Amino acid sequence: MATIFSRIIAGEIPCYKVAEDDKFFAFLDINPLVKGHTLVVPKQEVDYIFDLSDEDLAAMHIFAKKIAKAIKKAFPCQKVGEAVIGLEVPHAHIHLIPIRKESDMLFSNPKLKLSDEEFAAIAKAISSSL
Ligand code: AMP
Repeated sequence: MATIFSRIIAGEIPCYKVAEDDKFFAFLDINPLVKGHTLVVPKQEVDYIFDLSDEDLAAMHIFAKKIAKAIKKAFPCQKVGEAVIGLEVPHAHIHLIPIRKESDMLFSNPKLKLSDEEFAAIAKAISSSL
């Protein structure tokens, strides 16, 4: 069965899309730690990120770098942090999180509750900063 992220990429489940190319897809995390929290996923359905080929792992980071620059432009921050967990969704993904302090990256923090309009505006702000 396809993963939830494959179904998002296929357009079967809605998301707040930020960008895509032939191999990768970026969209907002639905339970964001901060505004701008974005996920980068390979279109190839691989659970564990370190099972990707060297080429695909490198290409995923080059794609993530472009998204991170756009996030930083749209949501001024000290840095965009990167995290890989993957215990919840078995489809490799990189979390990109604009941070001002270390604790902004804590996944145990309460998640933001945003409206549909807020999510849409955040995705648009990032994609138009690409
Ligand atoms: P993890 O696998 O532990 O890295 O966590 C999976 C992440 O995917 C969590 O931060 C979820 O909020 C996020 N997530 C799960 N389902 C969706 C969805 N349908 N749209 C956007 N983000 C999602």
